[in-house]
Amino acid sequence: MPTIFSKIIAGEIPCHKVWEDDAHFAFLDINPWVEGHTLVIPKAEHDYLFDMDDDSYTALHLAAKTVANLLKDKLGCARVCTTVIGYEVPHVHIHLLPTNQMSDFAKPGTFGMKEKPDLVALAKRITS
Ligand code: AMP
Repeated sequence: MPTIFSKIIAGEIPCHKVWEDDAHFAFLDINPWVEGHTLVIPKAEHDYLFDMDDDSYTALHLAAKTVANLLKDKLGCARVCTTVIGYEVPHVHIHLLPTNQMSDFAKPGTFGMKEKPDLVALAKRITS
């Protein structure tokens, strides 16, 4: 079954497109965290970013770089932050977030664990 983002690419669901090339598409997030919040997606359906083949993964990040530079240029922000989540829509997408200061992206105190985990044990788990 096509994802909601494939339907957007096909023009079956409206969106505010800001950029596209042969293999990628960029449009404004419908529930923006900041002004200019943009999603960059591959036209081919991939569920999980790190399952993508190397060429598709690299091409997606180069597309995101192009769109980030476009946003920075046109919106005049200090830097474009980026994140990948993907729990809501199972079609890989890179969030681009134009910002002028840290608090535009994340309110102070909203990130970070309350109880600090055992970093020594964690590093051992990951490296063993
Ligand atoms: P996530 O999968 O958690 O990275 O979040 C999916 C993102 O897609 C959210 O920020 C939504 O606001 C956005 N989104 C979902 N449907 C649409 C749509 N039809 N047009 C634009 N953005 C959308």
